[in-house]
Amino acid sequence: MPELPEVEITKQGIEPFLVGQTIEKIVLRNLKLRWPIPKDLCKVLQGLEIRSIKRRAKYILIDCSAGWLIIHLGMSGSLRVLSSFHEAPTKHDHYDLYTANNTIIRYRDPRKFGALIWTASNPYDHRLIKHLGPEPMDEAFNRDFLYQKLRTRSSSIKLQIMNNQVVTGVGNIYANESLFHAGISPTRQAYKVTRPKLELLIVAIKTTLERAIRAGGSSLQDFYLTDGSTGYFQQQYMVYGRAGEPCHKCKAIIRSVAIGQRSSFYCPKCQK
Ligand SMILES: [Zn+2]
Repeated sequence: MPELPEVEITKQGIEPFLVGQTIEKIVLRNLKLRWPIPKDLCKVLQGLEIRSIKRRAKYILIDCSAGWLIIHLGMSGSLRVLSSFHEAPTKHDHYDLYTANNTIIRYRDPRKFGALIWTASNPYDHRLIKHLGPEPMDEAFNRDFLYQKLRTRSSSIKLQIMNNQVVTGVGNIYANESLFHAGISPTRQAYKVTRPKLELLIVAIKTTLERAIRAGGSSLQDFYLTDGSTGYFQQQYMVYGRAGEPCHKCKAIIRSVAIGQRSSFYCPKCQK
């Protein structure tokens, strides 16, 4: 699943191809993603100039001067720049965005949980975005904020850092990895995590995400994908997906436990 680093890399990947360009058209092959795509979107977009591209949580926001496209990659979506004008779409290629200078951005999404939304209003006021917590990289995401948020919450710390109203964009992989780096068990009740530990956790979240973005950025040339691969990048993880294998730090065996129906991985020695 694309997590925040993949979304940020996607944003950085399409940015140079789109900003300052005029939209020629959008070709919609499938109007049923997570929500129906408005049929008249092609008419709406035609001739609009793309001013900038932003990211908020896992949403890519494209400023089209008369309104905004809000894109979410869902469970399996990817956006890529077509390297050939003649590359035939497959059944999972749901839309193509054409610019007047012949760039085509293609959206592929086998599971169809992604979203393509048009809004003529401020996208930050959109119902999907308005109530989101702070960005993990922002200064607003700090120890005192997190302490206030969590001090009455008795569910697990892992569920809380994956809660978009506490902090946005920390998905399963990075929640697992950050908790390892902070030495906190994923099952620990949120209100019991001390302030110094919260400080460590915040640093771990920021550095884990930053490292992933850097790793993805170094493979940005792959943004021209011709082989149909998803555009996600593989990384080395400390605990994620490593149940039964030895901890890289202490050699204890990594365990897994289901929390909120998601697999959690942790080292029973390093994380308390
Ligand atoms: Zn360990």
